[in-house]
Amino acid sequence: MRACNVKQGTPVYSGKAKSLYRTDKEGELLVAFRDDITAFDGGKKDVLTEKGSLNAKVSARLFSLLEEHHIRTHFIRLIDNSSMLVRELEMIPLEVIVRNIAAGSMVRNYPISEGTPLDPPVIVIDYKDDSLHDPMLNDDLILAMKILSNDELVRMKELALRINIVLSRFFEARGIILVDFKLEFGKYGGDILVGDEISMDSMRLWDAKTKGSLDKDVYRFEKGDVLAVYRQVTDKVLKKGETL
Ligand code: 5GP
Repeated sequence: MRACNVKQGTPVYSGKAKSLYRTDKEGELLVAFRDDITAFDGGKKDVLTEKGSLNAKVSARLFSLLEEHHIRTHFIRLIDNSSMLVRELEMIPLEVIVRNIAAGSMVRNYPISEGTPLDPPVIVIDYKDDSLHDPMLNDDLILAMKILSNDELVRMKELALRINIVLSRFFEARGIILVDFKLEFGKYGGDILVGDEISMDSMRLWDAKTKGSLDKDVYRFEKGDVLAVYRQVTDKVLKKGETL
């Protein structure tokens, strides 16, 4: 039994950094953010005490922020420092990446320089399957594979762009640039909701002044103390402040 009388039931799924459990309530799941950190398809991995709770707190705050902007998410509430209660969604096996500035795989794979502003933002959709290394899809493939209908695809992209505006403003007000981020969505009673997490593991964040990394790139490319950076972002995210 965890705090708030939520019973951790049978495991549903265990990913690289989170585990999912049933609860005693139908349709509600418990997401436990673990201290594991991985990169390069699991090729690099470590355990960093406190990392799970930092990502849980940031995800909870950002899901709440989206809800405040009438964007529906799976988030119900935090249960304790590192776990949250969520609605059970029928997950869509896609990773929806929104890019505001060229970085990461975009500059590795295409002839575009790091730091190039992308206006309008670029949406890239990958098929979520580690064994296939999350291959990039296009609209025709998504429709051919019957992952979504055309209306659902349009709606999902529109949501991704709205979320980008909300999150970019929120971070800008805290001296942070939202370079890019990854979302996962799920179906819920005819609607499409944001699922999974929105944390330093799934966003690329740069310090607005120094352009230094404030995300998992610090771990991927050994740029410094990743836990200190995650703490710094968490403090800024949790600080009460006006969004622009
Ligand atoms: P890139 O394609 O440049 O590696 O990643 C673009 C953005 O999506 C980054 O913010 C990155 O953290 C996020 N992202 C891409 N793939 C994954 C993934 O499999 N898991 C997580 N957590 N984030 C991802």
